[in-house]
Amino acid sequence: MVVAIDGPAGAGKSTVARGLAEKLGFRYLDSGAMYRAVALAVLEQGGDPAERAAAADIELGGRVVLDGRDVTEAIRDPKVTEAASRIAANGAVRTAMVAKQRELLSQGDWVAEGRDIGTVVAPDAELKLFLTASPEQRARRRAAELGADWRVVMRDQALRDAQDAERAHSPLRPAPDAIELDTTDRPVEDVVGQVVGLVREARR
Ligand code: C5P
Repeated sequence: MVVAIDGPAGAGKSTVARGLAEKLGFRYLDSGAMYRAVALAVLEQGGDPAERAAAADIELGGRVVLDGRDVTEAIRDPKVTEAASRIAANGAVRTAMVAKQRELLSQGDWVAEGRDIGTVVAPDAELKLFLTASPEQRARRRAAELGADWRVVMRDQALRDAQDAERAHSPLRPAPDAIELDTTDRPVEDVVGQVVGLVREARR
């Protein structure tokens, strides 16, 4: 079974996806980490993003490993965040990432998180969720993680949102059959509990 969780940055996808995977005993696919790893490779080595994407050996699990090197922390750098959103607009980069993601999802049970899981990567996913939250709360959550001022984070966030929503290839949008959940002012355990219920219903 595949549970697809899409939505903008700061909507609570990662926390909910991790919590859900743990509760259900499913594996967790962080597709954003893959775009981030390719962005890091391009920043460090230069070259054509599509070629880097096709050649990159990315392992996901507790740690993110790029070509044999642990890059778990390095891919969270704000420079990488910005570059990831930029290279994610490249159609050839997306084709390479989607192929890798589909291969992973073809076996076993997964909670997969990203922007295009329900629309492109796994349109047949048994359960699709689209998480949202108010721009201010999303910025406050990200700022708390980064130790930054939420107002500054909110400005960068608006830019990334526009980039993700307006790109020609796989723009961020809910799949027609996705269930939209607004996580504003909701504790994560509450959202995870609700989603566990939705998974049980979908499995019946
Ligand atoms: O989710 P995260 O913030 O780690 O993703 C980093 C960037 O990768 C996003 O800003 C988005 O542009 C891109 N991304 C994407 N499609 C996905 C996952 C992430 O375009 N499925």
